[in-house]
Amino acid sequence: MKEVLVLGGGFAGLRACRLLAKSKLDINITLVNNNDYHYDATALHTVSAGTSKPEEIMMKISNCISSKVNFIEDTVNNIDHDNKTVSLENNGRIKFDYLFNALGFESETFGTPGADKYGLQIWNMKSSIQNINKVNDNLKEYRKSKDKSYLSFAVIGGGFTGIELLGELAYMLPTWAKECDCDVNDFTITCIAPNCIPMFDEKLVHFALDYLHDKGVDFILGNDAKAKEITADGVYYGEDNKFVPAKTTFWTTGVKGNTVIKEAGYDQKRNRVVVNDTMALDAYPDEYLIGDVSAVMDKDTNRPYPTTGQISIQEASIAVENLKARLNNSKKVPFSYKSLGTVCSLGPTMGIAELPMGKKTIKIKGHSVSLLKHLVRMNTAFEIAGVKAAIQN
Ligand SMILES: Cc1cc2nc3c(=O)[nH]c(=O)nc-3n(C[C@H](O)[C@H](O)[C@H](O)COP(=O)(O)OP(=O)(O)OC[C@H]3O[C@@H](n4cnc5c(N)ncnc54)[C@H](O)[C@@H]3O)c2cc1C
Repeated sequence: MKEVLVLGGGFAGLRACRLLAKSKLDINITLVNNNDYHYDATALHTVSAGTSKPEEIMMKISNCISSKVNFIEDTVNNIDHDNKTVSLENNGRIKFDYLFNALGFESETFGTPGADKYGLQIWNMKSSIQNINKVNDNLKEYRKSKDKSYLSFAVIGGGFTGIELLGELAYMLPTWAKECDCDVNDFTITCIAPNCIPMFDEKLVHFALDYLHDKGVDFILGNDAKAKEITADGVYYGEDNKFVPAKTTFWTTGVKGNTVIKEAGYDQKRNRVVVNDTMALDAYPDEYLIGDVSAVMDKDTNRPYPTTGQISIQEASIAVENLKARLNNSKKVPFSYKSLGTVCSLGPTMGIAELPMGKKTIKIKGHSVSLLKHLVRMNTAFEIAGVKAAIQN
């Protein structure tokens, strides 16, 4: 029986496990994940801002996988491609015949001074819980000292994560003002970014920024709005080192793949590896890289597609199809990305979206988008772990 090893219990890894377990292949499947739970990474910003409790976006791995999948809770340290083994922190080396590497993403600070020490980063459950703890500590400091600097927030980055996070922070302001016995206007939230959600239509971007501004967010945008240094008290940005005070600074400028990718000697860029159209590597054909550790080239732009949960799930499906094709000596199935649209929340009750409708794209904004976001999360849970997970979500 062939040993199939899946690394990482995120969207890509769980989707692969689900399809492998459903396949009629004569294989033994093992999943390694560093926690005994899966978290919905697309909702980590809600935990960071306190609009969700951690348990609302977590699921026990045992509830997400079939009884045909063996689960090992451990941390992957390295991969030996020649001997086809993976070394784990506590369980030594395990062998594989086929590998599905789905170790996911980490936050990227681009070496900006102070970003690692003072910037709150959103990349797993642990970091998100640390983030909300830091927010709560600062609110507590304000209640003790009445020093308004503890009510100052900055968000560096205007991408998806930055904008969605701003929506959650702004949503929390009335609650925090009540808890702190102060006025909502005593809080400041400043977003510093060269531009905001450029993947969206200009009118939707204006709507989003106006909405967030009305809720208390100030924007510093433009070519000069690049963070230079983060300190405990705020952010230096731009050519002439302007300063924005902030006791709580979130760093959301981008992500890279898992550092294990570099450690394992893959030919990588920012810990992401270009795969072929079967999601395998030409250098190591028995290894499939799926999700945020892979780079799938978009032939139209000659650049990799942006890493998302949506594409991760599609990649996992195609990788499993191609393992089946190999083992059954049938035709390979090339990857072809089908965008299901893009939804950006602006807090729990508002959002913007662009959805493909035939050859057109429909653009929507408003409260209905929040419902859509919820449906997307349910559908994702269904695709990676089945009906039970979708209902729980
Ligand atoms: C705030 C935020 C909002 C987002 N919103 C959206 C959205 O609306 N739509 C969308 O499509 N995408 C969104 N994304 C992107 C999406 O979350 C990622 O593309 C997706 O999570 C990638 O899935 P993955 O399975 O590759 O990796 P991950 O979700 O990162 O999963 C990796 C898994 O591997 C485990 N792991 C990591 N290192 C090790 C190790 N050394 N050993 C063992 N296990 C390990 C982790 O614990 C985790 O379970 C968002 C991301 C963020 C941060």
